[in-house]
Amino acid sequence: MMYRKSFEVVGYTYNADYHCIQCTLEYVQEKYKDTYSLWHDQFLGFRDEANDMDLILSDDEGNEVHPIFLDQVGDLVYEDDEDNQYMPHCGDCGEEIS
Ligand SMILES: [Zn+2]
Repeated sequence: MMYRKSFEVVGYTYNADYHCIQCTLEYVQEKYKDTYSLWHDQFLGFRDEANDMDLILSDDEGNEVHPIFLDQVGDLVYEDDEDNQYMPHCGDCGEEIS
């Protein structure tokens, strides 16, 4: 099994849904295309060093785009009445956030 850091970013939350990294990059690139070169390095760096994040990215509702860290995924798993577990999925492409 590949070693993964508990603070590895596995997805993001914005627009009241979960999103995978790829869809988030596309979303942010489109939304912030005028300042793409400004945020690009910081955004990618943000994936590894959350505390170095200077640039706050906001979604369509004015809320902050939040990273989902690997050790938070367990909190996002949805369990129904029959104990079936559902992993969070990307609201755009449907990819599992894990
Ligand atoms: Zn996606």
